[in-house]
Amino acid sequence: MKLRAYGLSDVGRVRDSNEDQFLVDEGVGLYAVADGMGGHAAGEIASEIAIRTLADSVRKASEGAPTAGSAEARESLEQALASANRLICESTAGHDERRGMGTTVVALLALHDRAVIAHVGDSRAYLLRDGKLRLLTSDHSWVNEQVRMGILSPSDAHRHPMRNVVTRALGTRGDVHPDVLDEPLKPRDALLLCSDGLNVMLGDDRIRDILVAANGDPEKACRTLVDAANEEGGDDNTTVIVVTAA
Ligand code: CA
Repeated sequence: MKLRAYGLSDVGRVRDSNEDQFLVDEGVGLYAVADGMGGHAAGEIASEIAIRTLADSVRKASEGAPTAGSAEARESLEQALASANRLICESTAGHDERRGMGTTVVALLALHDRAVIAHVGDSRAYLLRDGKLRLLTSDHSWVNEQVRMGILSPSDAHRHPMRNVVTRALGTRGDVHPDVLDEPLKPRDALLLCSDGLNVMLGDDRIRDILVAANGDPEKACRTLVDAANEEGGDDNTTVIVVTAA
């Protein structure tokens, strides 16, 4: 299947620095978004290490070519995230100002007819198919745990003061447990990876409408999504990658 992709990151309207990073590598079929935390410099360091390590590790495992099978893709992503976790932990040791440094990550490795997606934290992957938007990932966040236990409703969670608290991240402990999923792709599918700056500002209906209106043009989709998040206030950094299948 032929894929087209575009990625865009924006500081937003409130923050003075951008702690998000992203990667679009069409040669290897690797796409990733990382949202750093732990204060300005530290958050940027964590997300930068995560993206660089993912790129290096997956490129090395695939020898620069697309990965063939789901099992290899899964292993490649898991190994890359474990390496990134270790490197972020190492870079925190001995630096008091980096205490609490970590990053979320959502990474997609495209195979011929499917996408393997790994995530840690609250950066998300969505799939638009036949005009319907589906959230593929489940946030590793305090509010999402409350929703799953029936304590909070999804609408309460959406702008809850504790919505930024993630329960899993890279760099905050010695081991890492990504969720990995495998999704068959069909022509005209659109995949969206994003940091929470997008989905906190925009509801799913708005995201769906923008993806539908972009009609398979990933750059147009990314620009409209970022503009819309900023029009809603741009409270956080917003990063998006859209991958469309033809
Ligand atoms: Ca964020």
